[in-house]
This record gives sequence, C-alpha cells and structure tokens, in this order.
Amino acid sequence: MEYIFSLEFIYLIASITYILGLKMLGHPETARKGNLIAAAGMTLAIFGTIFLYQGEVPALIYALIGVAILIGTIIGWIVAKKVDMTKMPELVSLFNGMGGASAALIGLIEFHHYTGNQLSILTIIAAMIIGSVSFSGSMIAWAKLNGTLRNPIRLPKYNILNNVFLLAILVFGAYIVISGADSQVYLYILFFAALLYGILFVIPIGGADMPVVISLLNSFTGLAAAFGGFLYGNMVMLTGGILVGSAGTILTLAMCNAMNRPLANVIFGAFGESDDAEAGSDSTMKGSIKQASPSDVAILMNYSQKVIIVPGYGLAVAQAQHVIHELEQLLTSKGIEVKYAIHPVAGRMPGHMNVLLAETNVDYDKLIEMDDINPEFQSTDVVFVVGANDVVNPAAHNDPSSPIYGMPILDVENAKHIIVNKRSMKPGYAGIENELFYNQKTSMLFGDAKEALTKLLHELKNM
Ligand code: NDP
Repeated sequence: MEYIFSLEFIYLIASITYILGLKMLGHPETARKGNLIAAAGMTLAIFGTIFLYQGEVPALIYALIGVAILIGTIIGWIVAKKVDMTKMPELVSLFNGMGGASAALIGLIEFHHYTGNQLSILTIIAAMIIGSVSFSGSMIAWAKLNGTLRNPIRLPKYNILNNVFLLAILVFGAYIVISGADSQVYLYILFFAALLYGILFVIPIGGADMPVVISLLNSFTGLAAAFGGFLYGNMVMLTGGILVGSAGTILTLAMCNAMNRPLANVIFGAFGESDDAEAGSDSTMKGSIKQASPSDVAILMNYSQKVIIVPGYGLAVAQAQHVIHELEQLLTSKGIEVKYAIHPVAGRMPGHMNVLLAETNVDYDKLIEMDDINPEFQSTDVVFVVGANDVVNPAAHNDPSSPIYGMPILDVENAKHIIVNKRSMKPGYAGIENELFYNQKTSMLFGDAKEALTKLLHELKNM
C-alpha cells in the first residue's frame, strides 16, 4: 500500500500515460483522449514531485511554486483556447521555447551544486547548451511564423561561420567540464554564446521550413529535459525527455521525407522565400485559366459518380471544414462516392487536415493517405481542390528547377475534371506558380472557401 503512494509509483504511472498518450496521438479518433491522458499523467508527476519529494521544503517555496503553476496554467489555458488552428505552429514554437529555457535555467542554477562531479557537470553543461539553443531558436522561429521577421538574414559564409561558432561553444563547454572550473563568468559566457548560436542557427532558414525547424528544436528540448532527468535521477523527467526527443526527431525526418528534402537541405538550403510569396504577387505564368461558378460546379458534381476532395491550408484558414463535411454528406446521399485525399504536409503542421476534419466528425475511413489515393484519381470524375496549392503542384514532377521538385504530390491531374477553389492566383507557401491552374481540365472556383462552398451547397441542394 505504501508503494502506491510513493513517488516511484507515481512516476511509473505518469511514464505509462506518456507512452499511451503518444500512441493514441497516432490516430485522429483517439488523439484528443491521448493528449488528455498524457496531460493527466504530467499533472500527477508534478504534484507527486511537489508533495512527496523527500526533504525539508520551506513554506515560502511551496507558495512560490503554487503561484508559478497558477500563472503558467492561466496563461497556457487562455492562449491555447484562443489560438487559431492555423497559428498552432507558432504556439508550439513558443511552448517549446519555454521548455528549452527551463532546461537552460536548471543548468545555470545547479552548476555550483555539483562542483567536482564531472559527470553531473557534463550533464548540466549539455542541458544548458541544448536548452539555450532551443529557446532562442524557437523565439526566432516564432517571430518568423508570425511575420515579425519576414526575410531570412544571412551573414556572409553563414554556414561556415555557424559551424565554427558551434565548435567553439562545444570546445569551451568541454574545457569547463574537464578543468573543473567553478566560474560563474564562464558559465554565463557559455549561456549567452549558446543563445546567440540558437539565433544564428534559425535566422538564415526560410519561413516555409519553420515547422520542420520547430520539430527539430522540439527534439532538442526533449534531449535537454532528458539530461535534467538524468542529473536529478528523476525517471519521469528522463522518460518524458527521451519520448519528446525521439518523437521530435521522427517527426522532423517524416516531414523531410514528405517534402523529399534531406534535413541538411532544410537547414542549409533556401526554400519558400521567393519574392512572389513575400509580396503575394499575382500570377506571371503564361496561359489562360477557366473560371467556374458554384452552379457550374454543382452541375458537374451532381452528374458524377466519384468525387475526391483535396483539402489544403486555405480550408483551414477559411474554417470551412464543417461546410465541406456537409457537402460530402449531401453528395453521398445522392449516391456519389466521396473521399478525401490527405497529403502528409497539407496545411501548416503534421496531421493538420486530419485534425481539422476530425473536428467535424468526418468518417475516418474516408480520409485516404496520399499513396493509397493516388492510383484512384484516374477513375475519379471530379477532384475538388479546396485551398490547396503546393501539394497538388505538378512542378514537383516536371520541373527540376523548382524548389519543390521531387516532393511527392497528389496526382490530381489524372482525374477527369479538376476544380480548384482559392481566392486568387497567388501562390501557396512555397511561393511558386502552379501550372495545374492552367490545365485544360481545370476550372477555377474563386472565392473564400467557406463562402464558395456554402454557395455550392445551396446550388446542389436545389438540384
Ligand atoms: P499552400 O500553402 O500551398 O496553399 C494554400 C492556398 O490556399 C493558397 O494558394 C491560397 O491561395 C489558398 N487560400 C488561402 N486562404 C484561403 C481561403 N480563405 N479560401 C480559399 N483558399 C484560400 O497549401 P497546401 O496545403 O497545398 O501546402 C502546404 C505547404 O506548407 C507546402 O508547401 C508544405 O511543404 C508546407 N509545409 C507544411 C508543413 C506541414 O507539416 N503541414 C510543414 C512545413 C511546410 P489564395 O491566397 O489565392 O486564396
């Protein structure tokens, strides 16, 4: 019975909830519950640590911890409640930065408590460097995503400069560990140097690659937390850190795979920063486009047997997920086969489209992953692209000079008719033109996705 109320037991339960939660995040149906389970485990671990930790803790410390938790909870709750789904990567970046900062602060505070213990000092220095890089890098990523920092800043020979600077930080860190120098000044130099490196690391990277960078920084924070867990012999911190670190790494690589770009190309390359994207300029591609009205599209769909919907970032911006679900249900009630084609990097974060459509209780069997849906376009009467652009851009297949060349895309060109809904001819996130819009089979249904779909729905209901 005593064991049940022990910290070890609580940590064991919390660790299990993290693993369970992570597993459940793998499917839209269970994702929300998984998140709650892991959060409950985290709460248990926090309160277990506060109340069951062996040792004298003055009442003032309890009060300070209580106030800090209260402030953090209120801010976190309000911010997470208010944030738009499309701004989620920014929020993740901010939260991740806080994790990195915590790891760095632990390093600053604990350094003097472990003088003479080389393994502990090594752990502290590693956590502090990684945590600081993660913090300042995340802040830059956040500023890039919200548009405060619009253009990548590149110093001359920035790649070499960054690598030399990183090497210098590592050598200096190793010197502190090996020499056993108990110097506050050294520690602060290292801390500020690591912060500066985080800025130098992220600042040259293009805005379009920020979600990948955030995922990478997220894995850094996990690693820094794991070092903290190792330092304190705190199993739940260690487990949590390792899980975040490995999940972040897997996610980073999965995103790179989905864009068919090596991680080194994301970090050292330049993508998604063309003038077109920045200025939001209109099309310069030669050719003519066909326009369709909601009633044209309604007629086309009404006489189809099979329709595939391709949701993209614009659907999320317009918050048109409920209307698209209604459209799908209406078409299905007319005996038309309807499926959704889900591209792995559609939207602005991994699983964006799944999360969005899950909100409307779409039947998950209708959400078909790219590799499974691609062979189906050939037998499709109408493919309806709603607010998607890059993920259906044939330049990924045809144009070796395109920055998205090699990225796997949804082969919507193979369908009999292509309807594209967007507001204008402006490019998507990669900032490049899309020849799909000039295809003979394509008709453009211009307008905000929610408004256009509502009109389309109205037309279809009257048929
Ligand atoms: P895109 O960003 O390529 O295109 C979105 C389109 O939506 C725009 O062309 C825009 O055109 C249109 N749009 C915007 N608002 C609306 C609205 N209210 N109603 C209708 N249309 C609208 O989106 P995709 O989903 O095709 O591609 C995602 C991109 O993000 C890819 O380049 C991917 O690599 C990148 N990315 C995604 C990550 C992820 O994890 N999901 C991670 C990293 C990068 P207009 O302004 O004319 O309306």
